Amino acid sequence: MDPASGRMRVVVADDDRVTTTLLTHALARFGLDVAVAHDGLTAWDLLSNGPAPALAILDWTMPGLDGIELCRRIRATSLAGTYVVLLTGRDSRADLVAGLDAGADDYMVKPIDAEELRARVQVGIRVATLQARLAERVNELRVARDDFARLVSIDALTDLYSRRWWFHLAEAELARVRRGGSVFSVMVLDLDFFKQVNDNFGHDAGDRVLQAFAAMLRSQCRQSDVVGRLGGEEFVVMLPETPIDAAERVASRIRESCSALAIQMPTGIITPSCSIGICEGSREDDAMERVLQRADSALYAAKRGGRNCWKSYGLAEAS
Ligand code: GH3
Ligand code: MG
Ligand code: MG
Repeated sequence: MDPASGRMRVVVADDDRVTTTLLTHALARFGLDVAVAHDGLTAWDLLSNGPAPALAILDWTMPGLDGIELCRRIRATSLAGTYVVLLTGRDSRADLVAGLDAGADDYMVKPIDAEELRARVQVGIRVATLQARLAERVNELRVARDDFARLVSIDALTDLYSRRWWFHLAEAELARVRRGGSVFSVMVLDLDFFKQVNDNFGHDAGDRVLQAFAAMLRSQCRQSDVVGRLGGEEFVVMLPETPIDAAERVASRIRESCSALAIQMPTGIITPSCSIGICEGSREDDAMERVLQRADSALYAAKRGGRNCWKSYGLAEAS
C-alpha cells in the first residue's frame, strides 16, 4: 500500500512497451498505483525502494535482470509478501516450472487476454491483502509477546527484575560459574520495620520508599550485577566475579546510602534502614535456591544483631 495515495502498489516490468502500456491502463482502471520498468535493474529499483508492492508483474526475459532472478531476489528479502506474476511468451512447461520454482505465485502467457488479467490480478490482490493482514497480526503478537515477557521479567513497582526472572538470570550465571570455576556473591536485603512505615504513613508512602530504595540499590550496584525484588520489602543482588570481601564493601555502601535516604511525606519524613545478608557462591553450588538460603540465614543474623547492618554467612562480623 502506498501511504500517500492509499492505493495498492504494483510494479510492472517488461521490455516490450506495448505490453507495459496495456498492463498500465488495465491496472490503473482497477484502482492500482502502477510503476513501470522496461529492464530488470530498474524493476529491482522500483521493487526494493518505497513501500513494498502488493503485486509484481514481471516479464520472463528482460535486459539487466530477468524475471526469474527478480523472483529469487523478491523471495530472499522483506518483499516476501509481494504476489508475483511472471509473463512469458513461451508456452513451455519447463519454463513455467522454473518460474514457479524461483518463487513466482502465478504466470500469464503473452499476448495478454484482458479478462484473464482481471481474474489473475484479483487473485493476486486477495492473496496480497491476506498476507498483509497476516503480517499485521504477527506484528501484534510480537508486541504482545514482548509486553508479556516484560511483565514476567520486571517488577512493576520498582522496575527491578522480578523474583522469577532474577532466578532465571542467576541460575544462568551459576551454570557459567560451574563451567568456568570463578566465585560470585549474593546478598539479600530487607527493609527494617517496614510494616511501621505502612502503618504510620500509609501503603502509598510504603510504595514510595520501596521505589526509592530500589533506585538507590541499582545506582550502588555495577551494571553486571543482577538486582531483583524477591517480594514485599525484600531484595536480592547477585554479584558475578565477586568474592565475599568485595561484596561486603558493596553492602556497607548500600547500608549507608539507605540510611541517608529521606523520603518527604506530607505528614513527616521517612528515614528507612535495611539489613543485609551476604554469602559467597562457587562451582560447588548446584542450585541458586541453596545459595539464597545461606544469604537468608545471614540476613536473619543481621536482624537478630539489631538491624541496620550486614552479616556474612558463617562469619560473626558486622558493619
Ligand atoms: P523486619 O525489620 O523484621 O523486617 O520488620 P518488617 O516490618 O519490615 O517486616 P514484616 O515482614 O513484619 O513486614 C513487612 C511489611 O511489608 C508488611 C507488608 O504489608 C509490607 N509490604 C509488602 N509488600 C509491600 C508493597 O508492595 N508495598 C507496601 N507499601 N508494603 C508492602
Ligand atoms: Mg522487613
Ligand atoms: Mg520481610
